[in-house]
Formats: sequence, structure tokens, C-alpha cells
Amino acid sequence: MFKGIGVSPGITIGSAFLVDRWKTRVEKTSIKKDETAREIARFKQAVELSKEQLCQIKEKISREIKDKTYTYIIDVHLLILEDQTLIDETTQLIKKERVSAEWALEQVLIHFASIFDGIDDEYLRERKSDVEHVGERIKKNLIGHKPKSIEEIKSDVVVIAHDLTPADTMLMHKGKVKGFATDLGGRTSHTAIMARSLEIPAVVALNNISSQVKTGDPIIVDGSEGVVIVKPSQKEFTKYLEKQRKFIYFEKELLKLRDLPAETLDGYLLELSANIEFPEEVHSIIEHGAEGVGLYRTEFLYLNRPTLPEEEEQQQVYKHLAEQLTPLTAVMRIMDFGGDKIDPHFNSEPETNPVLGLRAIRLALKREDLFRQQLSAILRASIYKNLRILFPLISGVNELRQAKQILNSVKADLRAKKIPFDEEIQVGVMIEVPSAAITADLLAKECDFFSIGTNDLIQYCIAIDRGNQHVAYLYEPLHPAVLRTIKSVISAANNEGIWVGMCGEMAGDPMCTMILLGLEIDELSMNAVSIPTVKRIIRSIRREEAAELTYHALSLTNAKEIERFVNQEMSRRFPNIFSIVRAEDRF
Ligand code: PEP
Ligand code: MG
Repeated sequence: MFKGIGVSPGITIGSAFLVDRWKTRVEKTSIKKDETAREIARFKQAVELSKEQLCQIKEKISREIKDKTYTYIIDVHLLILEDQTLIDETTQLIKKERVSAEWALEQVLIHFASIFDGIDDEYLRERKSDVEHVGERIKKNLIGHKPKSIEEIKSDVVVIAHDLTPADTMLMHKGKVKGFATDLGGRTSHTAIMARSLEIPAVVALNNISSQVKTGDPIIVDGSEGVVIVKPSQKEFTKYLEKQRKFIYFEKELLKLRDLPAETLDGYLLELSANIEFPEEVHSIIEHGAEGVGLYRTEFLYLNRPTLPEEEEQQQVYKHLAEQLTPLTAVMRIMDFGGDKIDPHFNSEPETNPVLGLRAIRLALKREDLFRQQLSAILRASIYKNLRILFPLISGVNELRQAKQILNSVKADLRAKKIPFDEEIQVGVMIEVPSAAITADLLAKECDFFSIGTNDLIQYCIAIDRGNQHVAYLYEPLHPAVLRTIKSVISAANNEGIWVGMCGEMAGDPMCTMILLGLEIDELSMNAVSIPTVKRIIRSIRREEAAELTYHALSLTNAKEIERFVNQEMSRRFPNIFSIVRAEDRF
């Protein structure tokens, strides 16, 4: 049994599929003299097979993509495979040292790497990785090991990996992945967020699960409790089957609230909307009772593809979303790249500190061409008057003014071309950088709404990487600093008469619902699956009760005390909900 962080609730019972991102390990193996010819033949076969594989890939890419840069990389790899030094040195070593082909190749690759390291020219030095990739391919072919990719999955499986990028998780969208478990990760990493959107039970931060599981092993992933069981006993199997049945039943019961408003017993209405990464999620969010899209992470339209989407394609996607939703609204968050969402089209140079680097609005302002294109696509799709624009990672008034200036110029261009758009389109600011929170009173004067992005706000406020499992214990949404910050942002918005929502994961955490209601937030946007539970809580309480709870929480001195107090109160009031969500595992 492995214990990690449950990041997407539910239970899945199935068969493991190991996505191997490690380098192939090779042991030194001696061979007999009469085995050398066989070993050399094995090595040459592996080289030939590698060539065939690369040619197939090249053919496929040339058919699908016009951009020749990609096939050029494959040509470089093919040339390395033709390199006589690589072939000769490996076969010589097999003969001379009487070692396996894998070991001989490994030694030659180490030798090559040291030569590359000594080269002064940076470009040439970086070609080292091409040689490494080619060497890795030959080694895998020698061992008979086919690297597994999520795209290849044909039957229902539970993916096990050292780590997964949001782009990997995106491939699960169309795949047959019924759950996943990883060594690394944190609750608000985008991989975790995607798992919740896709309603796939998931557990992260398991440290070494990827080295303990083999493809085909029977496995249970309990995303509610953060537990993974490999090769379960009959007793465990029966227990989790029953737990899975209860979970599904409870979810169905909650869905009965779908068409009812999120209204407290004393008539206070809150708006509950959903976060989406793909427009195709619209059907599911409405099924869960969302009153709109509170955050569309548009950057997912750009990931996992060889070329960037043109304005036309973007406009069609956004327009279709607007059509499907009307009369409900959608908040279109401008592309937010950087941090853990690395896109090769944007991040040309690796950054030492990507989370504090060129990300989100900073990147949009730098790549004004792409920013203008996206704004134009959104504006052209806004004719149903149900879209809003949201700028991510704004750090102060200047950045907001720059972004708005570009927006105004795009609007002027459209007007000049007589292209219709919503002249009254609302413009909002994500409050996720401490400097924005502190100057919220100034920002509120220059925008139409706020959306508090607690995933980043907590990360920057407490100075912990949201995706790092080693500091996950410090990720405390109920830290007094976080609560005070949220409180002051809400009051700055109220003072200026603009609406304020929250779209970070905290908004969908049922443990925080009463606190947020007590802080007088107007809207909560979350993963659709959380909406029924949050709604159930709102519909069972009075606003005054929430205000009292929040008042008391704010009088406590530290996160642990506040968590204990809120856990106690919530479990006492909602024993059914928190026996499923397991209060003690929330934070
Ligand atoms: C946030 O930071 O809270 C947020 C909603 O944006 P993202 O998770 O995409 O960074
Ligand atoms: Mg963010």
C-alpha cells in the first residue's frame, strides 16, 4: 500500500500501465568468446531496427505536418545511426572486452558524451542530447523494451509514471485511462487539475511507485484518500469495490441538486461556475449544475501540437463555446504559459525559475502578435455578449494598463474593418500575485471584475512551489495570511462595486465553502465534479452561521489551528460529505 496525495476523488480498480520516462539501466555482463559474433549481430540488428523506426516516424510526420524542422531532427538522428565510429567502437569493445552489446554501447556513449562536454561551441555541445537519444533508442531495441506512450493505450488501464506533464494528461482525454498515480506532483499542479476535470481518480507524490509496479499488475487507486494498492488481496478488493459503489451512489444523489440554485437557507445567492480546459467539457459542466464557465484555461488549445492555432481556428473554437453556453457566460482567461505549462513554441530558453519568470501576461505582452491574435479571436466570438476577458498573473496597474491598451487597439482594428463584437465586454484581473492583492483597491478602479487564483496566490504568498511534493505540507489554504489576503481583496472589490470570484482549487474544496461564503465572495468557479457537494453545503446553512465561523477562524493564529477548527465544524455539520471526502486528508 502506497500513501500519497489524493488529487482527484473516486476509486478505480484495474490494471497498471507503466509509462516509462527513465533512462534504460544497463548492467555489465560478460560473454564467452564464441558469443561475440552473435552479440555483434544483435547490436547491428538493433541499429537497423532503430533506423526503420525513425524512418516510419519521419514518414508519419511529413504526412501530417508541413513544417520541415521536425523531420530535420529525425534526419540528424538517422545520420548518427549511420556514424561508423559509433558502430566500430561498439563492435571493437564487444570483441576486446567480451561484454554484452548493451554494455559496450553504454561505454561508447559515455566516451562520446565526454567529448561533447569538452567542446567550446555551445551549439555543438548541445548536440550531445541527440546522441543520447539515439543511444537510448538502440539500447531499448537491444533489450526488447518498447517505450510506452499514453497515446498507445488501447484498453482500460491505470497509468503509473514518475511524473506526468499537463500535456501528457491531456492525451488521457481521448484515451482509456481510468486513473493515474505518480511519484511526483502536488495538489494544484496542472496535472492534478486536469485529472479532476477529466474525472479520473488520481494520487500523486507517491515517491517511488513507478519503480515498484509492472505493467499488468492489478491495482487500486483511491483518489479520495490518496491511497494506491498494488496487487490487492481478495479482502482489499472487496472492500474497495464496496467503497467505489458508495462513492458512485453518493455522486448520483448529489447530482439531483443540479437545477436548484446555490442559495443559503436565508436566501443569499452565490454563483457556482466551472473551470474548463477544453470546450468539449461544456456538456459535463452543465450536467453538474454549473451556472457558467468561470475560467477557461485557453492555453490548452495550444499544447500538444506542432503548430500554433491560427486566429481563425481560435475564433471558431471560442464562438462554438459561446453558442453552446448562451445565455450562460464564459470567462476567457488569456493564454497562461510558463510555470508547469511549458510550450515549446514559447519557451525558447530554459529558465532557472520558470514560476517567477516569463509566464502568463508577461509572455503575452512580449509576444504581442500572438496576444493580439487571441484577443481578436475572442472579440469576434463575443457577438452573443456572453464572453468575458481575464488577464492572468497581473502584478500591478501598469501591466493591466498595457494589456488594456492592446485590447483597445485590437477593438479599434475590428471597428475599422466593421467586424462586430461585444463593445461592453467585461475585462477582469486574476488576483494571484501578492503585489496585485496588496494593490487590489487600485486595480479595482480599472477593471470590471476580479477572479482570485488561489493556486498561484498561495504559492507566491507562502513561497512554496505548488507542484513540489516535498513542500506540499506547507500548502495551506487556511493559513491566516491567505485568509486575510482574500478578505482584503474582496473588500477592495466591494468598495469599488465590482464583482469578485475565485477560480483556484480552494473554490471547489468543500472544506472551505463556509469560510468563503463568510468572506462574502460573489462567485466560485471549480472543477465541475465539486459543484454538487459545494452546492449541498451552501443550501444547508445560513449566511450568518458562515460569517460567525469565518470570524472565529480569522481570530486564530495559525493554519493548523484554523484547519482543526474548520474540520471539526464541517465534519459535525456534514458527516456524510466529510466521511467520503475524509476531512483529515484535505490539507
Ligand atoms: C490559479 O492560479 O489559482 C488559477 C486558477 O490559475 P492556474 O491554476 O491555471 O494557474
Ligand atoms: Mg494561476
